[in-house]
Amino acid sequence: MVWGRVDITSLWALRCQGCLALAMPGKEWCRRCFEHLPVNHSACPRCAHPLPATSSSCGGCMKQPLPMDHVFSPFLYDEDIAWLIVRFKHHADFRAGHNLFRLLEGHLYKVSDADSPALLPVPSHVSRCRERGFDPVWWLAQRVARRLAWPLLEAHKRRATPRQQQLTRAGRVKNQRQVFEVPDMTGKTVWLFDDVMTTGTTLGSLAQACRARGACRVNALTLARTPASHESASMAASPRRTP
Ligand SMILES: [Zn+2]
Ligand SMILES: [Zn+2]
Repeated sequence: MVWGRVDITSLWALRCQGCLALAMPGKEWCRRCFEHLPVNHSACPRCAHPLPATSSSCGGCMKQPLPMDHVFSPFLYDEDIAWLIVRFKHHADFRAGHNLFRLLEGHLYKVSDADSPALLPVPSHVSRCRERGFDPVWWLAQRVARRLAWPLLEAHKRRATPRQQQLTRAGRVKNQRQVFEVPDMTGKTVWLFDDVMTTGTTLGSLAQACRARGACRVNALTLARTPASHESASMAASPRRTP
């Protein structure tokens, strides 16, 4: 964005988003903070759960696979990533949103798909969007779809549901049952999109709705993944840094 002779975006980049030290040229981070971001280096290809080394499916997927064929989450829901997500979603901090997209953008080359897929963001109920003043997942998904040159599809949430973070795993499943209305997807490959995947209940419910409407392959892309052992921390929505 250019204002007069000054590129405003370059002004944002002067200070590191993490520690306020000088950022690397053209980046939102200093080298130290960037190298300490919680990257999900090796993960289960079915559910993106972090694993010690990239291998076949994790134990959880061996026992009870999720309805998605493949999930890719480049970051873990921890430290600066969790802090940025909370800033963006709950405080409408669009600098944090811009930064999250820039981080995700750096990993989108790993999401190539020869099947001409479409991107389907997890919808929020209109009451939740009004409460926040915007839809953070849709905001990010628009930029991801543009960057990948994929069509963006729209689903609807039939009813408002309690926040997933406040529920047990069984409660999450009940909460999301038949809650999504999706367009016809006959023969399509679709990538679902969300900011964070915790148990995968929401994405699983949307994946089932897509399959019921004819999708032949359903993958998912999320910015961050909450490791299973961190689920209770995520439910309290309390990253270690205080926003
Ligand atoms: Zn820094
Ligand atoms: Zn898995």
